Amino acid sequence: MERKYLEIDLKALAHNYRVLADLAGPGTKMVSVVKADAYGHGLKQAARTLVDCGTYALGVFDPADAAVIRQEGIKVPIVSLSGIFPWEAGDAAKNNIDAVIFSMEAAQALSQAFLEKGETGNVIIKVDTGMGRLGIFPEDLPAFVEALAPLKGIRVTGIASHLAASEIPDHPHTKSQVEAFKRASLSMINDTLANSGAVLEGLAKGVPLARPGIALYGSAPDPGMKGADLLKPVMTFKTLIISLKTLPQGSPISYGMTFTTSRPSLIAAVPVGYADGYFRRLANKGAAIVHGKRVPVVGTVCMNLTMLDVTGIDNVQPGDEVVLLGEKDGLRVTGDELAASAGTISYEIYCSLGHANPRQYK
Ligand code: PLP
Repeated sequence: MERKYLEIDLKALAHNYRVLADLAGPGTKMVSVVKADAYGHGLKQAARTLVDCGTYALGVFDPADAAVIRQEGIKVPIVSLSGIFPWEAGDAAKNNIDAVIFSMEAAQALSQAFLEKGETGNVIIKVDTGMGRLGIFPEDLPAFVEALAPLKGIRVTGIASHLAASEIPDHPHTKSQVEAFKRASLSMINDTLANSGAVLEGLAKGVPLARPGIALYGSAPDPGMKGADLLKPVMTFKTLIISLKTLPQGSPISYGMTFTTSRPSLIAAVPVGYADGYFRRLANKGAAIVHGKRVPVVGTVCMNLTMLDVTGIDNVQPGDEVVLLGEKDGLRVTGDELAASAGTISYEIYCSLGHANPRQYK
């Protein structure tokens, strides 16, 4: 038995896909975002599940992700969401990527690479409507499109833009980005704007491609958003008790003595710490499920160990299961809860745990 592992519920992933596809509406196709190893859930398995669900395309960060997907025999379009560097053009063409581009250098390299394959590659132009990250400005779009015209190895199939605060649809910045996107739109088949927040808020409607990520994995960008309760958690993080000790009242726990027992206490140690992606900021804030009860993390989270106060739980033994994230016995520790406790977002919780722990799929 593993000391700690993630359980990934691919049925929940499929459920979330269907919820989002319904919300996006019949006129909008899904580019399911599987970058960052599918937000820590496992690229290959997530990609396969989403393809089986009928996703139109998969969204990745770089050609390495695309190569993994193609090696799995998956044939759906792959959109590289954040551009391609010129030196990656050969790999992009080899894996038949629909590249998001925002530089002439990348466009020329891609055109050359696709021509060498005897093909024409799709490109989507990234337009910065207010994210301040990647992309050309809307006013530069017509000249950019014109400059691309002589490149025979690529064809422009749309524009892409990214919303900075889609979880707040009434925010003037979101409104201004949506308006700027509509004005810039080339009315092409691969125009794409909506991330999870926008899909949940109904902003995907009428734009050909939606690009949700986090909501596929069971969290809304903001847990209070409408639609958030339709999503099912996909990741569970399990470990086991490796030590139990009874400590008298007044005993300090772990580095820095940030917790002192206020009563005689039964303290369990689990073999999980910040090296396993369980943030140190969860000291005295995290929670776990043990024997059908929620118990608190006590004291500082160490590199490989965390302590739980299991006082009052009957028959608790070394080797007993502990759920640090997920649902058990009608109780929950959610990604959103851990994120709030650690001062971050659920995205970082899933990526962090996903990159550090083995996974089992169900
Ligand atoms: N599109 C782009 C360009 C992104 O960078 C991301 C994620 O960061 C997404 C879509 C998916 O966003 P979300 O996970 O909020 O749905």
